[in-house]
Amino acid sequence: MEKLALLYEGKAKKVYKTDNQDLLWVEYKDDATAFNGAKKGTIVGKGVLNNLISAHFFELLAENGVPNHFVKLINERGQLVKSLEIIPVEVIVRNLAAGSMAKRLGLEEGMDLGGPVVDYCYKSDELGDPLINDDHIRALKLATPEQLKTIREMALKVNAVLSKYLAEKNIILVDYKLEFGFHKGEILLGDEISPDTCRFWDSETRQKLDKDRFRRDLGDVEEAYKEVYRRLTGKEVTF
Ligand code: UDP
Repeated sequence: MEKLALLYEGKAKKVYKTDNQDLLWVEYKDDATAFNGAKKGTIVGKGVLNNLISAHFFELLAENGVPNHFVKLINERGQLVKSLEIIPVEVIVRNLAAGSMAKRLGLEEGMDLGGPVVDYCYKSDELGDPLINDDHIRALKLATPEQLKTIREMALKVNAVLSKYLAEKNIILVDYKLEFGFHKGEILLGDEISPDTCRFWDSETRQKLDKDRFRRDLGDVEEAYKEVYRRLTGKEVTF
């Protein structure tokens, strides 16, 4: 597989064309941003860890019937994925109140929501990814009600599979963000699933093992990402 022209560079990843027009080469970077790009930094080794962690989750989800874009790992920082026409909606699934939901509704972080809560945000850096609902998604023609039903069902299936799997690794899946897209007419889960896009808490201590350590200057950011990798795979990464 050949890496061809850079197609797109985002905050955490670079996407390259390949010699197969259906497949893209995604390279994960160490750059970290938060608060819509207002806070910037580097988390050493993050690209490697997020690439390997995302691949691990995508494989697990494919085995459990959640179709996704992952094809195979290329190297420590890179993975081959199916090209998607991304639906500009961030699908956020929450099990415990945290982050923007806790703030918006005045809830204590960690409050059990008694079942998953799904939020949708319109993917727009310019507008700051505003919260939208099913009707907005239809009105803005981002997805049809039928497509949104499929997306919601997939997002909840991800929740069931990952919550159970992570619980066995002593991790609470607090919340996470997913993105979906079309590949040859089929809706696939895309983007990444990593400590950048999920909140992971240690089941016993509720210690944060995710990007909140960077957002809130809690320290030990690299160590937290490594700990997630260790718990998922039983392996160490060395850099
Ligand atoms: N999230 C993300 N990208 C975004 C916004 C949110 O990956 O642009 C993830 C975030 O890491 C968390 C979940 O989605 O796991 C819910 O985030 P929230 O809405 O609470 O926003 P935040 O507190 O991160 O601003």
